[in-house]
Amino acid sequence: MAVRRIRSRRDLVLGASASALAATWPAADAAASLTVANDRPNWRFCNKCFVMFYTPNPNQACAGGGKHRQQGYRFRLPFGGRETPTAQARWFACRNCATMSFAGYRQRGRCPANARYTTDRGHEADRTFAYVLPHDIPATRRAQGGWRFCNKCMAMFFDGYPTKGACPAGGGHVAQGYQFVLPHEA
Ligand SMILES: [Zn+2]
Ligand SMILES: [Zn+2]
Ligand SMILES: [Zn+2]
Repeated sequence: MAVRRIRSRRDLVLGASASALAATWPAADAAASLTVANDRPNWRFCNKCFVMFYTPNPNQACAGGGKHRQQGYRFRLPFGGRETPTAQARWFACRNCATMSFAGYRQRGRCPANARYTTDRGHEADRTFAYVLPHDIPATRRAQGGWRFCNKCMAMFFDGYPTKGACPAGGGHVAQGYQFVLPHEA
C-alpha cells in the first residue's frame, strides 16, 4: 500500500515540472516515505459554496446553507516544510467551517459559522497541520488547477466555473493572487 502511494507521488512529479515540484516535495530524498507522511487526505470540493474543505471536521458550516456537500476529486494536500517560490505557507483548516483558509493576514476573512455573532470573527485556524500549497506549476492528471484565494473570505475556492460559489462575505468568491494547483488521488 505504501509503495503504491509513493509511486503515485512519483508519477505526479514526473508528470509535471519536475524542478518546480522538487522544491515542493523532497521526493529526491532517499526516504521516499517522507513525501507520503507529508500530505493529508480527505480534502474535497464543496459543490454548494465551491471551497476546499476537510471532510473529517464535524463543523461543516457552508455559505451555501447547511453543511458542505462534497464532489469530485479526493485531494491530498501537502503540509509542513518551508515556503518556496511555488508553494505558499500559512494555509490551515478552519475549526468552525472546515474550510481551507489563509491565515497570513491580520484579518481572518469571513467564516460562515459566525453568522450568529454580531461581529464577524473570521476563520479560526486549526494549527495541527500547517499546509504549504503548490501554485503556478503545470496541472497534471493528479493535480488540478483553477484553485484560488478569495480576497473577501480568505478561503481556497475553485474558480473553474462561470459562477463563483457562495462567499460568506456575500455574492460569489473573488479570486486574487496565485494560481494554485492541488494534488489529488487518482
Ligand atoms: Zn460549502
Ligand atoms: Zn471558517
Ligand atoms: Zn469568498
